[in-house]
Amino acid sequence: MTGRNPIEALALLNHEFGEHGGVNMSIEASSTFTVMDPHTMPEMFKGLKGPENAGCYLYGRHFNPTVYNLGRQLAALEGTEAAYCTGSGMGAISTTLMALCGTGEHIVASNTVYGGTYALMHDFLPEKSAVTTTFVDINDLDAVKAAITPKTRVLYTESIANPTLRVADIPKLAAIAKQAGISLVVDNTFTPLILSPAALGADVVIHSITKFISGMSDIIAGAICGSHDFIGSLMDLHNGPLMLLGPTMDPKVASDIALRIPHLPLRMTAHGERALALAERVEARGFDVCYPGLDSHPDRALFDELRCEKYGYGGVMTIDLHDEERANELMSLLQNKYSFGFMAVSLGYFDTLMSCSGSSTSSEMTDEDKSAAGISPGLVRMSVGYTGTLEQRWAQLEGALGDLDSMPQRLSA
Ligand code: PLP
Repeated sequence: MTGRNPIEALALLNHEFGEHGGVNMSIEASSTFTVMDPHTMPEMFKGLKGPENAGCYLYGRHFNPTVYNLGRQLAALEGTEAAYCTGSGMGAISTTLMALCGTGEHIVASNTVYGGTYALMHDFLPEKSAVTTTFVDINDLDAVKAAITPKTRVLYTESIANPTLRVADIPKLAAIAKQAGISLVVDNTFTPLILSPAALGADVVIHSITKFISGMSDIIAGAICGSHDFIGSLMDLHNGPLMLLGPTMDPKVASDIALRIPHLPLRMTAHGERALALAERVEARGFDVCYPGLDSHPDRALFDELRCEKYGYGGVMTIDLHDEERANELMSLLQNKYSFGFMAVSLGYFDTLMSCSGSSTSSEMTDEDKSAAGISPGLVRMSVGYTGTLEQRWAQLEGALGDLDSMPQRLSA
């Protein structure tokens, strides 16, 4: 099976021209919008008029044309009826969970999610709203089913887990969610274009646009993609979390991001080609590498079934050095001696970014939860960039791995 190719839906979108015929849409730098007839305003407050109905805009926290048009692009990318762009990926995740769960309700989540998502579910939501989460191995479908209770409202997973890179079986999870009458929410941050979770059965798709979609590590942004009804409910005047918690995207940011979506396919392909080539070579050198495009990856066959083959296997790989100090030595060599990449969190940048997940982006997790998820203290996550040539980057990486090989291993390693 070859997954859906989102660029066809993107190409079919009506092109939004700028106010004076510019090839790019204008930035609507207004937080509020005027009406010609005073009756229009109460109609907008009653939800009778809006962007899709009479082209009416009210106030920027609700709808802004530039942000709204970026939302149309995100909806086309993900194959959903609608999408709304937020000020961050965490804004998208927290808004979605607060919309779907009431006080005392329950989430079943993958035990391997971004540390901020984990902390939201493990610490913040139970304290603020008594929403609790059971974390399970998302690849153990029996465990997923067993964790669902009458209070469960959401089954939550990342398309590819940060940082263990296990691939979620979205169609099977969707069937479980459907049978239980709950919503499947998939964070697709690691695999834009590669996976289309909604086409595979997800109800809501989340993005941290900050990563691959932005591609330049200069913007924090997010998106929620789902049905018209769900996105509309987020804007409800009385209990819509987008309306009331206000994780709004700035229209200037929306304009910037809209200009990057047309070359996202080229960038995803470049990330994937470089990551696959490096992962194969590092594995051949005898290191413990994880990359979903390797035959040794436990979910390679599943990923091949679900993905759109045009965009490869993603831009993230890990090398497990099993010991934090050794991981730090490798990253330090790679940055400071060989100029291979940068020690920095985040991903999707054009250059390579490296971090030791256990002590950085997964540090919110308890030691037991890290170990249940398979996050070793020496796991180096690399978001592989596409600058320079492959041979140049391989020479840098191989140089650092060679230096590391010649350093004495500590007993704990
Ligand atoms: N989802 C995933 C998979 C992430 O890796 C991150 C951040 O690293 C987020 C969500 C949060 O996104 P943001 O930093 O844009 O709030």
